[in-house]
Amino acid sequence: MANPLYDRLFGIHASKTKSFLYLTDGTTISYAQFLEMTAQLAHALVKHGLQPGDRVAMQTEKTPQALALYAACVQAGLIFLPLNIAYIVEELSYFLDNSGASVVVCDGAQAEKLQVLADELGVVLRTLNADGTGTLMDEASGQPTAFETVDRDLQDLAAFLYTSGTTGRSKGAMLTQDNLLSNADTLVEYWRFSEEDVLLHALPIFHTHGLFVATNVILAVGGSMIFLSKFNLDTIIEKLPDATSMMGVPTFYTRLLADERFTKDLTGHMRLFTSGSAPLLAETHRQFEDRTNHRILERYGMTETNMSTSNPYDGERRAGTVGFPLPGVELKITEPESGTELEQGAIGVIEVRGRNVFKGYWQMPEKTAAELREDGFFITGDMGKVDEDSYVHIVGRNKDLIISGGYNIYPKEIELLLDEQPGVLESAVIGVPHADFGEAPLGILVAEKGQTPDLDAIMTTVKDHLARFKHPQKLLVVNELPRNTMGKVQKNVLRERFSEPV
Ligand code: ATP
Ligand code: MG
Repeated sequence: MANPLYDRLFGIHASKTKSFLYLTDGTTISYAQFLEMTAQLAHALVKHGLQPGDRVAMQTEKTPQALALYAACVQAGLIFLPLNIAYIVEELSYFLDNSGASVVVCDGAQAEKLQVLADELGVVLRTLNADGTGTLMDEASGQPTAFETVDRDLQDLAAFLYTSGTTGRSKGAMLTQDNLLSNADTLVEYWRFSEEDVLLHALPIFHTHGLFVATNVILAVGGSMIFLSKFNLDTIIEKLPDATSMMGVPTFYTRLLADERFTKDLTGHMRLFTSGSAPLLAETHRQFEDRTNHRILERYGMTETNMSTSNPYDGERRAGTVGFPLPGVELKITEPESGTELEQGAIGVIEVRGRNVFKGYWQMPEKTAAELREDGFFITGDMGKVDEDSYVHIVGRNKDLIISGGYNIYPKEIELLLDEQPGVLESAVIGVPHADFGEAPLGILVAEKGQTPDLDAIMTTVKDHLARFKHPQKLLVVNELPRNTMGKVQKNVLRERFSEPV
């Protein structure tokens, strides 16, 4: 018997003295040390009577111990459920209740408040602090450093990952061992990862990007990670010379570009920079190339599907696109209401199918049925098109579509034009109530540093370039766009803020 995810990602590294994690305090953790800690944590978990398939929720800072808890869950056949550290106790009640977690591991600072909730729900609470101490670690420390791996099947669930909650309440995506393993294998090959790779890891590990894309790819090849507890500009600049590759969200790259120390010299040795989780502005892509000679490789994925498309490693990495469907991933563009496949070039909903696609939303059968077709295609809710060279373009989310006087308006088309205007750093277009048209576009701009965009001139340009129904009713300037921890623009926050009719 076997446990494919554990065996392939962790078990094969069991006695290796090679460094797995380089920490910022100068210490390193070898594969062998990491897996000993994993085994001890697995013992500590099963001591609480957990059975395969039980859920272990974790809301902690990003530490090697927290990563080992993921490995321990896989080894013990438990379902790992990491939660965004930003959630407050009131919000956690939904996740704990919805997931039916048996154990919750939290930061010591939260323990007192969370204990009340844990008692109410009958959940065992243990702590894991930012410095790697805590009651969970106390329990683990006396345990044996080997653990008999629990048998699992490729179709068994390995994790519940809650979506980012950008468009509404977070949903628990049920991910199997096969979903995770098949995607890791695909990405290793597509992005040419090898044992030699040292990945600069500054992403959170409660999200698919940092946890599965980054970590699983490195584990699959037996590479190493420079494991930063968070994104910090100074630390990134200090550590870049030791890395071969980096995965980031667009805000990482805009912040790096804003720093003069980020130069060709600093990045010359790097093999790969990837971006995802939110759209990378074409302008950022160009600036990055001008500054470093590297073209960022943009890819597209989501909690429910792992990674679905990617720009090529060798071929043209085209700015403003998310590349091609990955090997093993089928992608089609459909008409939102009927689900009929559209011809090449037309804008519609992106649907994907493959071993990467999740099993459904935990305890949300209706939502699962509405979004996961019986034939296996998942309706992503993202709108996009495939161009004549087969590159996939994302034009926004279905929920952000503006319907004005019966016409569909894709905010992205207006945003792209606004972004190009003098003095404009970036923009967001949302639908706001309109007496005649039901809804009408509002253009929200962020100015470039020290600039004051000429709104009248921009409006004139917009009118020259876009059909009348797409003209924003109004343009306004804000200091910054609201973003969540993954750098995603929160259009629902903007819609609330600008809910007055125009
Ligand atoms: P929720 O589903 O709870 O509203 P969410 O969709 O933001 O939240 P995630 O699964 O973290 O939760 O994010 C997936 C989404 O991120 C995709 O559906 C897509 O809209 C966006 N995304 C990811 N990569 C890219 C990219 N390269 N370009 C544009 N959008 C992207
Ligand atoms: Mg989503």
